[in-house]
Amino acid sequence: MVLAELGGSISRALQQMSNATVIDEKVLNDCLNVITRALLQSDVQFKLVRDMQTNIKTIVNLDDLAAGHNKRKIIQQAVFNELCKILDPGKPSFTPKKGKPSVIMFVGLQGSGKTTTCTKYAYYHQKKGWKPALVCADTFRAGAFDQLKQNATKAKIPFYGSYMESDPVKIAVEGVERFKEENCDLIIVDTSGRHKQEAALFEEMRQVSEATKPDLIIFVMDSSIGQAAFDQALAFKQSVAVGAVIITKMDGHAKGGGALSAVAATKSPVIFIGTGEHMDEFEVFDVKPFVSRLLG
Ligand code: GDP
Repeated sequence: MVLAELGGSISRALQQMSNATVIDEKVLNDCLNVITRALLQSDVQFKLVRDMQTNIKTIVNLDDLAAGHNKRKIIQQAVFNELCKILDPGKPSFTPKKGKPSVIMFVGLQGSGKTTTCTKYAYYHQKKGWKPALVCADTFRAGAFDQLKQNATKAKIPFYGSYMESDPVKIAVEGVERFKEENCDLIIVDTSGRHKQEAALFEEMRQVSEATKPDLIIFVMDSSIGQAAFDQALAFKQSVAVGAVIITKMDGHAKGGGALSAVAATKSPVIFIGTGEHMDEFEVFDVKPFVSRLLG
């Protein structure tokens, strides 16, 4: 189920509940069952969905609600709040400050859109007057440096990398040092991906992280990853200190639920979403407007 369909299903379930003459336990349960099914079909992790259902039932205790209360509104508000709660880990991520050098390290599986997202992130800030720079510490994938170089050149963003050096830690450290000397205020380090979660990848990420001491580590995840989202995000979080999430390919036919699971697994907020292959197809992610839009 794509994200728009998920929103549609939840809205319809709420509307149906709203149309009922009397809102009793059965009407509430029917409504929650439809919402639960829609969330599961959108690849939201089972435990999250179950917790959400329990929470709503606790908040909306029909027996306790005084006769004058608008039960419909209370239920709608509870659903809205619970969806926001899943997407909001409760603490903001590190926010870089213009003019002060920050190192931002990107991690994620190969094909997730990591390299594309590094450039989008740099370009977004450049347009706002920052001085970003890109470091290609991906020595694993042939062509990774060329791809980053091409993107960086197109966006007129300084870059650093090597065709010869095979040690990602060395490149990362050199790149960060160089751009600190050049007074760049947003030094973005692109790391290697792998096709799947592997011990070697996680070890490399740890080493790059230890050597460059990033202010923020951003986990990039393809929105079409499905039910594997929670475990994948958790595996990255357990290796390095992931502090924020960017979900890519939100323009496709992806099931959007992975975003909710990634937040839960990493306890980190989604800060941006990728909505296309182009440099400017990149949006700031805000929980409440996102959920409002989702519910139409
Ligand atoms: P990496 O291996 O994680 O560095 O992934 P890449 O940055 O090379 O991206 C893999 C593919 O996904 C490329 O074809 C990108 O153009 C594409 N891609 C990345 N982000 C998005 C997005 O938000 N939407 C769409 N439609 N494609 C994307």
